[in-house]
Amino acid sequence: MNIPPPLKVDEKYRDLLHAIESREDIPEQWRDTPIESLIMSQNFGWPIQSSGKPEVLIATCIEFRYALPIPRMYAYVIRRASGRVIGSEFSVGYTLVHGVKYLVIIGHNDCGMSKVIDRAPLVVDAFVEQGWERDAAKDYVDKQISRHAIDDELTALREEYLRLRTVFRKLVIAPLFVCLHDSKLYVPKWILEGDLEPHLGDKVPSEIIRKLP
Ligand SMILES: [Zn+2]
Repeated sequence: MNIPPPLKVDEKYRDLLHAIESREDIPEQWRDTPIESLIMSQNFGWPIQSSGKPEVLIATCIEFRYALPIPRMYAYVIRRASGRVIGSEFSVGYTLVHGVKYLVIIGHNDCGMSKVIDRAPLVVDAFVEQGWERDAAKDYVDKQISRHAIDDELTALREEYLRLRTVFRKLVIAPLFVCLHDSKLYVPKWILEGDLEPHLGDKVPSEIIRKLP
C-alpha cells in the first residue's frame, strides 16, 4: 500500500503546518486538556490516562492507514470519509449529553476524498454490484459527492473547523493534521496565527440548523 512521504519534506504541506516536537509546541489553550493527552500519546507515546468519563470526541477520516492511539473509556469517535462531521451533528449532540467538551478534528495527507470525483463511476459500479439500479446508484453518488469530496485536505479541514464553530458555540474545537508516513500530529499554522477568531455570539441562527443534511 502506498505510504506518502513525511509531511516535513512534502512541499504541498510542509510550510502550512507546525510540527509538535515537544509539549511546548502545543497551543496554550489546549494544554492540560484531553487534546494535549491525545497529542502526547500520538507524538511521544505517552499513555493516555482515562478518567473513565468521555470528555473528548475525535472525528477523523475512515482512512485505514491511520489508527487512533486511544484506549477504551477515553473518547467518542466519528470516522467518516474525509473526516468532516457534516451530517453527524446529531452524534455530536449525543456525546455532549455525556460530558464531551472538546472536539478534535483530524485531517490527513493523501486523502482519497481529494480524488473521489474521478472515482465516482467506480463507486456507482460498486453499488450496482450490490444490486442497486444504476440510475438510483448514480443519483445517490451525485448527491453524496458534495458532502464527501474535497479539493485540498488542509483547506477542507479549515473550512470544516470554521463551520463547526458556527454550529457548536461552546465546544473547544481543535483541528489537527496527521502524517500518514509516521502518524505524527501537526498543528495547522492558521490556528497559531489566530486570524480565524471572529467573535461569534452565543446564539446559532436557526437557518444554519435547518440547512444541516
Ligand atoms: Zn481520508
